[in-house]
Amino acid sequence: MADCIGCGRELTQNEIALHKKIKDVRDTEFFCIHCLAGYYKCEVSALEEKMKHYIFLGCPLFEENQ
Ligand SMILES: [Zn+2]
Repeated sequence: MADCIGCGRELTQNEIALHKKIKDVRDTEFFCIHCLAGYYKCEVSALEEKMKHYIFLGCPLFEENQ
């Protein structure tokens, strides 16, 4: 699995999926949820809500059990 380009932490499948969803699906390097929140100057909890929403919708990029 890839590492975050912001902080170097190992990424989860859902963090990669979230990056693709809200930034660019063609990106090959990704931010973790914390660096993504920093990038967009929003709350991590807001991104977690988005992630849950995409999982709820059944988006195939996301894993349900993580
Ligand atoms: Zn990071």
